[in-house]
Amino acid sequence: MMDHEELLQQILALGADKVGAVPVAEIDFEPSFRSLCESNACGMYGRSWMCPPHIGKVEDLIAQAKGYQTALVYQIVDTLEDSYDFEGMMAAGERMNRLTAAVRRKFEELGLKNCLFLGAGGCRICPKCAKQDDEPCRYPDLAMSSLEAYGVNVSVLAPQAGMKYINGVNTVTYFGAVLLGER
Ligand code: SF4
Repeated sequence: MMDHEELLQQILALGADKVGAVPVAEIDFEPSFRSLCESNACGMYGRSWMCPPHIGKVEDLIAQAKGYQTALVYQIVDTLEDSYDFEGMMAAGERMNRLTAAVRRKFEELGLKNCLFLGAGGCRICPKCAKQDDEPCRYPDLAMSSLEAYGVNVSVLAPQAGMKYINGVNTVTYFGAVLLGER
């Protein structure tokens, strides 16, 4: 059975820029962050099965997350040409999506059970979430919620995992995590 350090190395090998482990007991969960989702700055509120309000009450998700022991946190940082570099932002988002999917695949291949996979922003498995057509989730085994939906204060989590939350002008940063339960 791989230890946390070996699992972090696996995530790095899949293309993360930085990785770090944080005990779940030390994570700063902020139920009030749900109001940020409700402000719908990302445009996904109510449009994905994996986003609020459909993903469930933040208090229930926090309680669920607290049932795990260790968060293996990972980050990607991409450079943009300038703050209007929409293509660069899209490319970074796609790199993050590929990484989160690859991390999940790898952990499943390794036989790791009792994991909660959390990505950045809403689930991006399908180009258009089935919720928008009022249909059931197409890939419930692949669907992934986000650190934000679970109320994680990522600006606190980042330094706990040895990372910067913001990485300077003309950069875009994404975070994901695998929460590991008892093995
Ligand atoms: S897998 Fe597809 S249908 Fe299911 S939550 Fe994700 S985007 Fe929506």
